[in-house]
Amino acid sequence: MAISRRYSASDVAQAQFAKATAHLQLDAGLVEYLLTPKRELIVHFPVTMDNGHIRMFTGYRVHHNTVKGPTKGGIRYHPDVTLDEVRALAMWMTWKCALMNIPYGGAKGGVQVDPKTLSQRELQRLTRRYATEISILISPEGDIPAPDVGTNPQIMAWIMDTYSMHRGYSTPAVVTGKPIAVGGSQGRIEATGTGVMFTTLEAMKALDMAPAETRVAVQGFGNVGGIAALRMWEQGCRVVAVSDVNGGIYNGRGLDVGALMQHQARSGTVVDFPGSERIDNHDLLICPCDVLIPAALEGVIDELVAPDVQARLIAEGANGPCTMEGEAILLDRGVLFIPDILCNAGGVTVSYFEWVQNLQTFFWSEKEIVQRLREIMLESFQAVWQIARQKEIDMRTAAYTLAIRRVVDAVEARGIYP
Ligand code: GLU
Repeated sequence: MAISRRYSASDVAQAQFAKATAHLQLDAGLVEYLLTPKRELIVHFPVTMDNGHIRMFTGYRVHHNTVKGPTKGGIRYHPDVTLDEVRALAMWMTWKCALMNIPYGGAKGGVQVDPKTLSQRELQRLTRRYATEISILISPEGDIPAPDVGTNPQIMAWIMDTYSMHRGYSTPAVVTGKPIAVGGSQGRIEATGTGVMFTTLEAMKALDMAPAETRVAVQGFGNVGGIAALRMWEQGCRVVAVSDVNGGIYNGRGLDVGALMQHQARSGTVVDFPGSERIDNHDLLICPCDVLIPAALEGVIDELVAPDVQARLIAEGANGPCTMEGEAILLDRGVLFIPDILCNAGGVTVSYFEWVQNLQTFFWSEKEIVQRLREIMLESFQAVWQIARQKEIDMRTAAYTLAIRRVVDAVEARGIYP
């Protein structure tokens, strides 16, 4: 079942921002500046398909804000990608990087395509052409892409190679999330899911939820949801439901996520896992569970779904999985959110480690990566938690106020040019 999207991601991102700025005394012009993307590139480009015919594609790259450093953000391949969505995702990257205290601004890219309908050769040609089209914006010093929904380390390797061919020498630091063979970092593939686990366990501790008694449901079983489910299971939680684009599965006694991973690797889906009951993506969001991890696309928890959500804790593995209306209903009921810009920031954090390792041409061990990731995730969680308690505001608003404050400090220190 496809996941429905009936809202504008930019509207959600802007409303979240507006809610947070109500707690900060900011000049109206500064607020407008922080809301406005710095640059937006739209590219229409041809790709020769395997049958010899040309097909046109549309792609985007948006730089939201560059005040704190080069821009950072993934590239999404999905049939529903729009400029509005990429804009929202770029803005979320600005706040996410500021919140994690990593020296980047926010960016995002995307191509309107269903990568599953392309052959590997077509995917490679599309990626190389898109990389060339956006090469006027990307560079190790200026803007560093990474994987997102529908892209993977192989696609990052093609981007790295394309950029390097144009430069005449290898430039690994132009993109992160690469395979280890071309300068990727240990732990990057698992980083987002691992970070989701770190912040979720921390929130569970705060809520007095013991892992062995905690039922977890995860929407999305890709790089984020799959690893998050595995990590939560490894920590002793009962993972009762998971889903992917093909549908979901449920077992109230708990799923063996290790075996499920093998099933998914063999069959390409979680569906039909032995001993589980078939559910759909909507059932997953409202199934009996304590922790819900939406780790697929935006806007899935809206005002229609929220009243039926049973979880006490929502850990946003995806970017923007809750609409403002959906969140308001759940906040009223006392549900705790780990907002996306905190919860899923493990990915960009290890991307930062990868970029630093590439620039230094000196690589760290997986143990060191995971330790540093854990430290940053817990520190950021605690900072947000404290603000939320002190100011009696929700976790997202607390995260935003901290992130926006850091960007504003940078704007003030640099001044407005000229
Ligand atoms: N696409 C990921 C995100 O939304 C990772 C971005 C990155 O590593 O630059 O955070």
